[in-house]
Amino acid sequence: MVINLSDKNSVLCNWISELRDMSVQTDRMRFRRNLERIGEVAAYEISKTLEFEDIEVQTPLGSSSCKMMKEQPVLATILRAGLPLHQGMLNIFDHADNAFISAYRKHHRDGSFEINLEYISSPDLDNRILIISDPMLATGSSLVKTIHFLKEEGSPKTIHIVTAIACTVGIEFVRREEPNVTIWCGDIDDELTAKGYIVPGLGDAGDLAFGTKQQA
Ligand code: URA
Repeated sequence: MVINLSDKNSVLCNWISELRDMSVQTDRMRFRRNLERIGEVAAYEISKTLEFEDIEVQTPLGSSSCKMMKEQPVLATILRAGLPLHQGMLNIFDHADNAFISAYRKHHRDGSFEINLEYISSPDLDNRILIISDPMLATGSSLVKTIHFLKEEGSPKTIHIVTAIACTVGIEFVRREEPNVTIWCGDIDDELTAKGYIVPGLGDAGDLAFGTKQQA
């Protein structure tokens, strides 16, 4: 399943517009905060799909029949670009467990690149709800590699992907390789450059959030 959170007008559309806007992107803190806010909204929307249980709570004036989420998810992200989106999710799922993966594009002289995954820190994922945040779903290959990497840590019962901007080609690739995942997108674009950048997209999310890096 694919959900485009921009399909319905909401304040999230403002944040997506600001993320894309070159004249606003110069404000690095605003860029990170907008990603964080998208993470918060996506987490709230995902929470509506989770299981709840009835509990009885004592107020100062009596007893109230309330509901609580049955379990907290595991929030996973790919360093470094995923950190602001991840923080937004963590602001909502306040007792979540966390997993971190390092991935980078190793560029070759001919312009092609491969995805290298090196580091993982994860809890046992058996039978857990796993939510992976990655701001840009471009080709989808790093995301699929990340899912395979994470599945070595156990078999999650459900997998959600949260992304700010996704590209249709990348969405199709992920759905072909991992048909059971649910993909939550801030917005969806149709074009991808030969170098794997989304058009119109927003540019390099990691650089815009944290500064330009040296090419690997
Ligand atoms: N990663 C980015 O940061 N931007 C893109 O357009 C694609 C991948």
